[in-house]
Amino acid sequence: MLDTIVAPATPPGEGGVGIIRLSGPQAVDFLGAVFRGKVNVNTMESHKLYLGRLLTPNEERVDNVLAVIMRSPRSYTGEDVVEVHCHGGLQILRSVLDLFLNVGARMAGPGEFTQRAFLNGRLDLAQAEAVIEVIRARSERASRVALDQLDGHLSSEIYKFSAQLKQSLALLEAHIDFPDDEVGTLDLPHLLAPLQQISLQLEVLAGSFDVGRVLREGVNVLILGRPNVGKSSLMNAILGESRAIVNELAGTTRDTLEEQLVLAGFPVRLVDAAGVRDTDDPVEQEGVRRAREKATAADLVLMVVDGSCPLTDQDMLALELCQPDRTLVVVNKSDQAQSCELKLLAGFPCQVAVSAKYKLGLDDLSAAILEFFESDIISSGSEGVVVTERRHREALLLAGAALKQLMVSATELAPLECLATDLREALSALGLITGETTPDEILDQIFSQFCVGK
Ligand code: GDP
Repeated sequence: MLDTIVAPATPPGEGGVGIIRLSGPQAVDFLGAVFRGKVNVNTMESHKLYLGRLLTPNEERVDNVLAVIMRSPRSYTGEDVVEVHCHGGLQILRSVLDLFLNVGARMAGPGEFTQRAFLNGRLDLAQAEAVIEVIRARSERASRVALDQLDGHLSSEIYKFSAQLKQSLALLEAHIDFPDDEVGTLDLPHLLAPLQQISLQLEVLAGSFDVGRVLREGVNVLILGRPNVGKSSLMNAILGESRAIVNELAGTTRDTLEEQLVLAGFPVRLVDAAGVRDTDDPVEQEGVRRAREKATAADLVLMVVDGSCPLTDQDMLALELCQPDRTLVVVNKSDQAQSCELKLLAGFPCQVAVSAKYKLGLDDLSAAILEFFESDIISSGSEGVVVTERRHREALLLAGAALKQLMVSATELAPLECLATDLREALSALGLITGETTPDEILDQIFSQFCVGK
């Protein structure tokens, strides 16, 4: 029999309420041992809050609380779950936790509640992983995608694919096990058509990870350009407040500055790189080296040039660090007479004119940034289901590869056993996502990333 676990469900610190949660066969007994209210715990209705007091074994009061029992199987973990809503203070929560540990509960490990929910079939693995995504979501869009996954949108796609694969496998096995005069001849094109379809859908779904990663981890947007073109001013203008220090002297913004913001639903990490400039100054050389590194790692580079003067060698040096398909050229200082030779920037099709100082053209800039990321979403368009876990993407690719192998074997008229092996491989890869075929050590690793109490 599993033991009964306990942990705070709310983060440490002061709050209106702090919740201690128990799960396991003895959860109700343990509550009964420390809770005194008008109603005896054994007659408490499920999913209803009851007022009472928590007492130590010598009848000393620990707190006035609200307690709720959620009886198995209608609970988060599928086991009997008890939640005690206490006053949200560190000492109170510690004392309440001790009460339950003293009567025999065990401190829960990281993610152990969710792990039990998974083991009891309340959630499949993709849904369990979504719990942590919902908690960690850094933008509205990210939380929407995570909630969809928690509701089982990704899982139901996977189950749909698995069901078709199982059907094809059954058909194949019938032809392997029984002679053709009993089951008729195998119509190979008929068998392959839906598998081909699934193979394509797997590819599209795996491709949605490009967007999923952005929603989960945020996009790295780097502001690059030679000193004095207005990078700090642009950063401030985008942020709408004076964070980066604007300096009149060229080349004084040496350190990279980083800010987090949400742009039209996308979490964005905005980085102001050190001014790029060919110089012997060791500090600046280091800055240039870091800028080069960051430009390679960035999802999008905002390459700033000063529209009010001709392009310099330093501008060209900065431009060299940029890949045209991941670069938006921001022609700054549009409030002044323009003398920048835009034809030198012909290799960079995405350009926006702004004035960071007078906050002109910023809407166009936001729209251009958004368009850049939206086009990723549109190209991935898999009916709204977005893969956010690298693990899921790899499993989808694995399943897709097995199906492709099957197509090759089929055209080479390989024995049916070979096709069946490929199908089983694809099925097993899909099972990694929902947890049916996930090895225990991977499961442990996934749940250990959760916080205690989740
Ligand atoms: P950075 O070295 O690239 O970070 O450039 P700064 O943001 O420190 O700006 C350098 C100088 O250009 C400062 O004097 C700013 O006031 C000025 N500046 C920045 N943006 C604009 C703009 O849009 N128009 C004008 N006229 N001046 C600007």
